[in-house]
Amino acid sequence: MALFKLENVEDLYEIGEVLGSGHFGQVREVLERATGTRWAGKFLKLRKSASSRLGLERKNVEREVEILQSLQHCNIMALKDVFESRSEVVLIVELISGGELFDFIAAKESLTESEAIEFIEQILHGVEYMHSKRIAHFDLKPENIMLSDKLVPHPHIKIIDFGLAQHLTQGEEYRSLCGTPQYIAPEVINYEALSEGTDMWSIGVITYILLSGISPFQGDTDEETLRNILAMNYEFDDYHFSQTTAMAKDFIQKLLVKDQNERMTAEESLLHPWIKPLNRKQAASRCRSSINMKNFKKFNARRKWKMSYNMVSACNRLCHLQLLCKASAKANEELRQCESDQEDTESKPASLLRRRLSSSS
Ligand code: AMP
Repeated sequence: MALFKLENVEDLYEIGEVLGSGHFGQVREVLERATGTRWAGKFLKLRKSASSRLGLERKNVEREVEILQSLQHCNIMALKDVFESRSEVVLIVELISGGELFDFIAAKESLTESEAIEFIEQILHGVEYMHSKRIAHFDLKPENIMLSDKLVPHPHIKIIDFGLAQHLTQGEEYRSLCGTPQYIAPEVINYEALSEGTDMWSIGVITYILLSGISPFQGDTDEETLRNILAMNYEFDDYHFSQTTAMAKDFIQKLLVKDQNERMTAEESLLHPWIKPLNRKQAASRCRSSINMKNFKKFNARRKWKMSYNMVSACNRLCHLQLLCKASAKANEELRQCESDQEDTESKPASLLRRRLSSSS
């Protein structure tokens, strides 16, 4: 079981500015008093009682901590220490100061496919490593892909937020309805057993967006998005993909496969010729092709806008979308748990959706 220190975190760390907000609390910059080293502190509110809907259950924090403790990879955020008080747990993690990958790219004038591949390859290395330990992230999306330092010539990817990650065990099935509509795989919507392949779908979606600036399954509503995913309703239209290589499209097509067992694994993806060209011709075509920057900038601006105005969790949205007709009683219970995600940040919409949930269950 994960060991949490009972000392007061403030005795050892000076708490600094807020870096971001997650489902159950804030992430702040912290300064280690003994060494003067800067870290990030993830402050997670604990659920006070079993009946409370506020905060995280301790067992879920333990799971996130245990997963982070077992992952040591240059493309995955490192965990240093964990402190526990009566009401919260503080994870001291490596400070990732380069911001989100998508913001970094959106600030550029242009980007070739080969430059984009440098980032996708690093994501794949991190994911291949975690999958080799049978850990799946289950929430891969642009917000969770950051850069350690954006000022260096070849910025380093860091995957963050293991709040939904799971250790998959042989012989045990894991199902979940959590995730973000745009990035979730069909098996999530269908409440089927998930696998490492579920992450690979999300990488397919992220790559699609990165190259075109449009989201493959995006509908006018979340319900439409989920229906598009189930119907595998996506295409590489000429307008948005005019500058994209056939190899890139093939890479995406091998990830956006409905049957999770038929999707490329992280290991296979790293060997795909788009990532690892077999000859000079393939390598050269990647340098000539570029990403659709005008559209990408628009996508990112919209994404940031949505992030600040729509803090209601995806689970909440999944709840009130009656699409989840297949969800069992256990699924509904799980949805209720996910539902508390945004309680303290957006009490109004959350409570509204909760009412809708209870009236539909
Ligand atoms: P999380 O709850 O892990 O999703 O984190 C919420 C937000 O805090 C993220 O979207 C980031 O903007 C920021 N953040 C998380 N971890 C770090 C970190 N290690 N260093 C810097 N910022 C972070």
